Amino acid sequence: MKPETREQFMNTVYNILHDDGTNDRANQIIDAFDEATESEKGKWVHLGGGEYCCDACGNVIHTEGSWEKPRQKLCPACGAEMEGTKDDA
Ligand SMILES: [Zn+2]
Repeated sequence: MKPETREQFMNTVYNILHDDGTNDRANQIIDAFDEATESEKGKWVHLGGGEYCCDACGNVIHTEGSWEKPRQKLCPACGAEMEGTKDDA
């Protein structure tokens, strides 16, 4: 899931429940949402050259001529969390 999606959902929940005075109910819903949509895990599969493929959705990205592994921690297409990505940006 893309981070924007979660943020949008949270804003909606807070808006609906803003009369509560506390965020208790909103946070319970968001926790349930996180549980239900637990991030898919994926990894970049090297296709050759600068092409890598997300093994969760099949999205292909290009690393701009570099032979290094992609640095994206999330697949831009499906939002899967990629394993083995470098931490430095
Ligand atoms: Zn993907």
